[in-house]
Parts: sequence; structure tokens; C-alpha cells
Amino acid sequence: MEKLLPRFLEYVAIDTQSDPYSKTTPTTEKQRDLAKKLVMELHQIGMQEVSIDENAYIMATLPSNMDKKVPTIGFISHMDTSPDFSGKNVSPQIVKNYDGKDIVLNKQKNIVLSPDYFEDLLQYQGQTLITTNGNTLLGADDKAGIAEIITAMEYLIQHPEIKHGKIRIAFTPDEEVGRGAHKFDVKKFGAEWAYTMDGSQVGELEYENFNAASAKITVLGKSVHPGYAKDKMVNAIGIANEFLGLLPPNEVPEKTSDREGFFHVHLFKGEIEKATVELIVRDHDALHFEARKQLLEDIKEKLNKKYGDCVNLQIDDQYKNMREKVEPVFHIVEIAKEAMESLDIEPIIKPIRGGTDGSQLSFMGLPCPNIFAGGHNFHGKYEYIPLESMEKAVKVIVKICELTAIQIK
Ligand SMILES: [Zn+2]
Repeated sequence: MEKLLPRFLEYVAIDTQSDPYSKTTPTTEKQRDLAKKLVMELHQIGMQEVSIDENAYIMATLPSNMDKKVPTIGFISHMDTSPDFSGKNVSPQIVKNYDGKDIVLNKQKNIVLSPDYFEDLLQYQGQTLITTNGNTLLGADDKAGIAEIITAMEYLIQHPEIKHGKIRIAFTPDEEVGRGAHKFDVKKFGAEWAYTMDGSQVGELEYENFNAASAKITVLGKSVHPGYAKDKMVNAIGIANEFLGLLPPNEVPEKTSDREGFFHVHLFKGEIEKATVELIVRDHDALHFEARKQLLEDIKEKLNKKYGDCVNLQIDDQYKNMREKVEPVFHIVEIAKEAMESLDIEPIIKPIRGGTDGSQLSFMGLPCPNIFAGGHNFHGKYEYIPLESMEKAVKVIVKICELTAIQIK
């Protein structure tokens, strides 16, 4: 376990920010810097079948140490960090024996990580916190996951008395731009199921995520001199506004939680001749999700009738709720839950208000719930992670391997 922190610190020092506008895989070449290091390290700790493909997907095997046939399971995390905030020159601060007070991240810029605002901090009094220096994100999302998986594999290699089946691990690029699973070779991975180590606080265990679509509304107007516009002008801005006015005003991200879905308008560009609106549609429930998309279609129809065909709507599905793929194999959630409980970790099972690589992988044939990696405040300068949470994640991985070997025939 003593290598967990140095490992994590080494990984976060390497900039692996992904880029949503890039067409290549990985989306940024610098992700290969970390990938190369990880490949070397996997060899060093004694993993087998270590491979990296041309897209920088890394896979490796810890062979079974039993005669009995046990299902092959996997653990996955991602190498890239969010495009939302700089991951360059990450220079973490280590706060030992945290006293529950403000942590000054950056004196010059007066950036403070305070429990007044981030109450979660208070549960970590007495622990070792790893924070940023206020200039970058930390990259615990998801380099904590990588450090935890590698440390767990090393632990199992050093403790052959713990019996386990074949374990596969994978590190992917480009999760943060929604493409981590796209070129994942599920067949080559060859696991019956897997877990992404990509959740936040200790205990998180997730197997439900949003159904997701994006929509683009384009309104074409007609510009006429305002003095002579009666019955002639078609103002695209006004019609786009009318469209948005017909959406349920309380079903937006800032007013919803848990399993409540929403419409989220994230772009509005308008001139008289043309207005463009981009939004995303989210709902855990498949029927409600379809109804939301239908509402957009209905509004389009209505406005087209009223103003003559000037509204165009394009809806693209993005990802689906993995629940339907996980429920038929629910023991994979129960094993994780039991692993946590046996380590005195209270499982926090809640629907993800987003997507994970695991949801895509689940639909590609690899059921894949998500487990905590331990960090908080992802994608920004207030990101931090308690070392003790990372240690717990390592123990959960080890325990899942152990329980799978005991319980499943
Ligand atoms: Zn992540």
C-alpha cells in the first residue's frame, strides 16, 4: 500500500488532458506519455499479457491462482483528464492530519478550499488530503482509479494466499470527451463483467445512469425592414424563444435531482434570419426519456404549423441507462456491495446524473457498474482526494476479486 501515494503523484504530474475537438484516438498525443509509463509499470509489478494498442488502450492480466473455474472479471479506469480545466504542471499539496479548517490552495490568488463551502471536507478530519495548488485540476478523476487498480494488483501478486480467478484490467483514453469506450475491444478484454473505478466519495456504487440525447433546433427567419415588416418578417430569435418557452420550466439541471430528468439548453445563438439552440435531454426512465424527445418533436410541429416550416430539429441519441444490462446479472452489484460492507464501508447506491464509460461498455456486452475512486470536486481547482479513501478503494478491489472466487461457481 505504501506505493499508492507516490504512484498517484507520479501520474497526476503527467498532463493527459483530452480534447473534444480532436478526431484522433487518443484525442491528445500526450495521453501516450502516461500510457507508456503504465505499461512499464505493469510489467514491473508482474502483470501478464500487458498490451497497448494503436489507440493507447492498455490491457493486462493477473492470472488465476486457483484450479477451480472462476469468472474472469475486470477493473477499468481512464487516463485522460477533463478539457474543462488545465491539467498542466499539476503540483499537488499534501495536507497531513487535516484539521477541519480552510486549506489555502493559492495564497497569491486567494484560492481557498473551505469546509464552509465544501462540507464533505469535514468527514476527513485527521486524514491525509491531496489537493491542487489552485492553478490546475488534480486529476484524481481518474488517476486515483489507475493507482488503486495497479496497487490492488500488486497486492494480490504479493499475497498469493488470497485466491482469485483471472483478473483483467484496462486503462482507456478519452473518457472525459465521451469516447473512452468507443474503441474498447470487449472481446479481447474477455471479462464476464467489470467495474469502472471512476466514482467520487467512499462507498459510491452506481449501476444506473441517464438515458441521453442531444438536440439541435435551427430556426430560419426572414429579415424585413422593421418599418414595413407587418405580416412579412419572420424573426427567428422570437420563434426560438417561443420554442424554449414551451419546455417545462422546472425540468432543468438546476432544479432537479436524483431520478428527475431534464432539458438543458447550453447554447443559444440568434439573429433575425437564423437562430440556433443546442440542448441536451436526460432521463433515467426510458419511457420518460422518449416522451421528452417526443415533446421536442411536438413543439417543432406546432411552431411549423403556426409560422410555416421554419423550424428544424435534429435529435441524436448519446448513451443509455446501463441498468437494463446490469439487472439481469445483479450479483455483480451485490458482490461489490458485500465487498464494501465487509470492509465497514457503507455502500452509497444512487443513480448517476450523467454517463460513464461503463454504460457504453454495458451495451457493448461488458456489464460494468461504477465504484468510487475517492476524489471530490472533479474537473476544477477544488478537486481533492483523501489518501485513506484511495486505500479503501484498493481494499474493495482486492475483496471483490476474493469474493468472486468464493461465491460464484
Ligand atoms: Zn472520470
